[in-house]
Amino acid sequence: MANLPQIAMLGLDRGEIAALVDGLGESGYRASQILDAVYRQRVDSIDAISTLSLQTRKQLREKGISVGLPAVEKQFLSVDGTVRYLMGFADGQSVETVWMPGGDDGEAGDGTEAGDFVEKRSPDRATICISSQVGCAVDCQFCLTALLGVKRNLSAGEIVGQVCAVLKNQGVSPPQDRINLVFMGMGEPFLNYENFMKAVRLLVAEVGIAESRMTVSTAGIVPRIRDFGDEPVRPKLAISLNACNDEMRSKLMPLNRKWNLERLMSAARDFPLRNRERITFEYVLLNGVNDAAGNAQEVVELLRGLRAKVNLIALNPGPGIDYSTPDRERVLEFQRVLMQAGIPAFIRRPRGRDIFAACGQLKRTVEMATAPAP
Ligand code: SAH
Repeated sequence: MANLPQIAMLGLDRGEIAALVDGLGESGYRASQILDAVYRQRVDSIDAISTLSLQTRKQLREKGISVGLPAVEKQFLSVDGTVRYLMGFADGQSVETVWMPGGDDGEAGDGTEAGDFVEKRSPDRATICISSQVGCAVDCQFCLTALLGVKRNLSAGEIVGQVCAVLKNQGVSPPQDRINLVFMGMGEPFLNYENFMKAVRLLVAEVGIAESRMTVSTAGIVPRIRDFGDEPVRPKLAISLNACNDEMRSKLMPLNRKWNLERLMSAARDFPLRNRERITFEYVLLNGVNDAAGNAQEVVELLRGLRAKVNLIALNPGPGIDYSTPDRERVLEFQRVLMQAGIPAFIRRPRGRDIFAACGQLKRTVEMATAPAP
């Protein structure tokens, strides 16, 4: 048994679990019991699936089948309630997943109401920020995850598993209709497209989180933006713009040399939006680099004719990042230019900066163990 490759049940869909159950000579309804145990009860071992006979559990174990729930290796609690989790996988790799209580209507709800200076928060909501890769291959100059390079893709099960493990840890039971998901953690989801999309389908079908409560953010992998538009089930789309012209964007995000603003904006314009849906453009404000009022005006031109909203993120600083955070005044001025042009623009509150959980600060390393303890 020890020599068998481990097969995780997390990540298998209904058809695949049904085939597995069939292979054991069990009746079909066992598949539903397993799906319920894995995705809704979030059991952490085969032995904990109490609806299955002891014999069946033994058979599963003997086939090298495990549940595959990621292990919470560490957790850090911020003064603002944000929790940063270090999630460990079977091969010893790990990623970070962030729990943000209070929700984030500006991100994943319908909250596109203009006029608000910061997004609203509701007390009974929460947002989970999920990683899609160990590290990241996209070399954005202001992001700490980039310093890791990419180690590997996460499997669909490891992506869904982060959600299950956090919900279990937070004691959230179904229906989790107040939970929003953002694929904005470590990694570039569109460079792990198949696994990411399978995870989305499992989250909708088995965990029970509506696609309208999910947002995926891409640095701008143009061909995958186009594929994504054709998906029958998909989260909302966010694009990390971060600059207002090609020269600036290529400097900050080298992938812009491959997929420049013309190609990116053309994919955005072709993107089939649903009723009332908008594309979110994220814009990290770097002091004196891309945050002038004139730059905001260029963003207005880029977004002309698009059903868009903008999330402004003042840089979250970090060691090894050579940029600084603009003052509040500059951020407000940038927002004002966008709003006056009729583009809804939200200023993102940094969440969990004190525990290094904010955008661009996720970096799986031992040195994180020295972050301020909860
Ligand atoms: N790879 C995806 C998702 C992860 S990054 C993407 O690039 O969109 C999520 C968001 O955090 C992106 O909009 C990114 O531009 C932003 N970000 C990265 N580093 C940051 C930092 N240091 N401060 C603030 N936002 C940052």
